[in-house]
Amino acid sequence: MSAGIASCPANTGYLAHHRHAQSEIYYIISGKGEVTVDGKVHAVSGGSTVFIPGNAEHGIKNTGDQELKWFYVFPTASFSDVEYKFSEVEKVDERVDELVPRKEPPVLKIYGWDA
Ligand SMILES: [Zn+2]
Repeated sequence: MSAGIASCPANTGYLAHHRHAQSEIYYIISGKGEVTVDGKVHAVSGGSTVFIPGNAEHGIKNTGDQELKWFYVFPTASFSDVEYKFSEVEKVDERVDELVPRKEPPVLKIYGWDA
């Protein structure tokens, strides 16, 4: 297993849409946000858990005025086994039917443990 804690800054922080072969679990520790999995948007807050199937396109965005912090788990021995494939375009807002080029990498902190 490989696990860690990631965080995004208040209001606008996000982890851009991406996919990887491994499935993943997010457990939201604190803050408010939206997790998108294969185009479906899930509102999340402290205590929410989201299962992300392998190869599903997903991303997370902070929609609250506090830091969004979550715990993630991969079923792989090392985080370095996880190959992130970022989407080149993404839907910034579900209400807008338009794909925009992906912006600069997000401001994101990751602390991880491998076992
Ligand atoms: Zn992921």
